Amino acid sequence: MLCPRCEQGDIAKVKIKKTGQEIFVCQECEATWFSIKDIGLSSFKDFGTYMEEIGLLPLWDELIIHDE
Ligand SMILES: [Zn+2]
Repeated sequence: MLCPRCEQGDIAKVKIKKTGQEIFVCQECEATWFSIKDIGLSSFKDFGTYMEEIGLLPLWDELIIHDE
């Protein structure tokens, strides 16, 4: 799925290893959504900001990538 924010990156469905939460992250600009139906409709959150908010490092190593 093409990212509606940057229109360059693909959005990956990923799981945060430590919380089990599934999120959707653009691999180019790292815009993050929490539900697939929200992509493009509601505002995104920055991946790094969100990870810091929940006390994790803003690294792709913290994620399991389901598909690209
Ligand atoms: Zn993007």
